[in-house]
Amino acid sequence: MRLVLVLGDQLSPNLSALRKCDKANDVVVMAEVADEASYVPHHPKKIAFLFAAMRKFADQLRADGWQVAYTRLDDPDNTGSITGELIRRASEHKAAGVVYTEPGEWRLIAALGDMPLQSHSLPDDRFIASHADFAAWAEGRKQLRMEYFYRDMRRKTGLLMDGDQPEGGKWNYDHDNRKPAPDSVDYAGPMQFAPDHSVEEVLDLVARRFGNNFGDLRPFWLATDTGQARQHLAHWIKGGLPKFGDYQDAMLNDHKFLYHGIVGLYLNAGLLDPLEVCQAAEAAYRAGNAPLNAVEGFIRQIIGWREYVRGIYFREGPDYVSRNALGHTAKLPAMYWGAPTKMNCIAKAVDQTKTEAYAHHIQRLMVTGNFALLAGIAPAAVHEWYLAVYADAYEWVEAPNVIGMSLFADGGIIASKPYISSGNYIHKMSDYCGSCAYRVQDKTGVDACPFNLLYWHFLDRHRDRFKGNPRMGQMYAVWDKMDPARRDQVLSEAADFLSRMDAGAPV
Ligand SMILES: Cc1cc2nc3c(=O)[nH]c(=O)nc-3n(C[C@H](O)[C@H](O)[C@H](O)COP(=O)(O)OP(=O)(O)OC[C@H]3O[C@@H](n4cnc5c(N)ncnc54)[C@H](O)[C@@H]3O)c2cc1C
Ligand code: SF4
Repeated sequence: MRLVLVLGDQLSPNLSALRKCDKANDVVVMAEVADEASYVPHHPKKIAFLFAAMRKFADQLRADGWQVAYTRLDDPDNTGSITGELIRRASEHKAAGVVYTEPGEWRLIAALGDMPLQSHSLPDDRFIASHADFAAWAEGRKQLRMEYFYRDMRRKTGLLMDGDQPEGGKWNYDHDNRKPAPDSVDYAGPMQFAPDHSVEEVLDLVARRFGNNFGDLRPFWLATDTGQARQHLAHWIKGGLPKFGDYQDAMLNDHKFLYHGIVGLYLNAGLLDPLEVCQAAEAAYRAGNAPLNAVEGFIRQIIGWREYVRGIYFREGPDYVSRNALGHTAKLPAMYWGAPTKMNCIAKAVDQTKTEAYAHHIQRLMVTGNFALLAGIAPAAVHEWYLAVYADAYEWVEAPNVIGMSLFADGGIIASKPYISSGNYIHKMSDYCGSCAYRVQDKTGVDACPFNLLYWHFLDRHRDRFKGNPRMGQMYAVWDKMDPARRDQVLSEAADFLSRMDAGAPV
């Protein structure tokens, strides 16, 4: 007999390792281990979501006829690591070896590869593009632009295709998806599930063991099995998808979720299948229940961005997470862990991260990410923060978004120019600035929005690298035209802000 490893983000009945094995002879191993739960200080909601979903998935496998050796975090024999549990179970069951589906993190791939057990790794085929597909697409290209990869994925899946042409005549309707924040939101947000007894048990465990981590454990309302995740998906397709596109980039003080899908955590843990989710969205479009800009935008995020960043993570290799092309070294300020800040946009994004283990894409990219980039915070610290605080965060998807898209620390593999903006962008897309202690209109002075100061400071200190970038020439032209005395004032106020922040003063 063999052991079949099922990791916490592999909760899919058609997992390649399960398909390969035989429920009559082989034993599934699942384990809640301290190493995985604490190698970064994960948000308690994220840990609870995964443990609760793992326990339910193990029950489902048993009901399907599998023998499951499940280790709970507080089992006295728990060795504390995935490899430790495999070695223990192998001797208990006299197993000939271990079959597993490739993990989504280099750290775990290396650990499993080094195990003193005969092991067989299978590709994770819950994705649309295999590593070989991505390598073939990337081969010989000077620039790996997501848009072209995405078109191939549309052709491959047939999603939103009209013969060999894109539905509606255009591949991308992003142009229609940048409306500023609406006055009111007519979608109540994600479907919420009251914790049942098994979830409550996990919540008590997580409160005991991880209660001091950043993040609120309760109220806990996440789906913890595929049935619930599908109910949530149907609820969102009806109520949220129609306006998802229009307000995809908007941010509001009083709406944490707006029209977003909140499906990332379910997709990444394996409770939902990416193709199933996209087909459900396409069906809504075909039935006339959702417009093309919303459905195309959503499908592009999943078969485009999600697959593309995974391709980059595996193509670039284990050192990707430690890249720091811009040489940034500042400490991550305490406001990222909930310490007071006068910047309302940061306070709001961090606060909902704390309560929900969630912030949407533009909050991650243009608020917390933009600030970290402008302020020169060390990419490794920012990477660790994002990996810890979001319920959907796993290294294969988080690292390319943080190191590559948000911080330009990979030197421009993912982004052709840094995603930076002054306060103006946040002001246009949100209602944050109206209730901020800083003034977004002020470019200098004690009340000036820090994004306004830091934006120019960033451009100035990285002039050598970015001056020649054709997409940034306009920014430098504006800076160079500014009165020299004013330029000096901006730079000195920005430097003062950064040194106060570095000294730990609330900013
Ligand atoms: C700095 C930064 C860090 C991020 N970290 C993560 C992360 O740890 N895990 C994660 O799944 N996503 C991450 N993203 C991408 C994106 O922000 C989240 O997928 C999204 O906010 C999840 O919320 P949702 O399910 O409501 O998504 P929606 O806005 O409803 O989008 C639908 C789905 O599209 C996919 N998607 C959208 N954008 C991306 C993207 N850039 N990369 C990969 N998939 C995408 C996700 O599966 C998402 O669930 C990050 C983005 C940035 C800028
Ligand atoms: S004024 Fe600046 S710091 Fe304040 S909310 Fe607006 S963008 Fe953020």
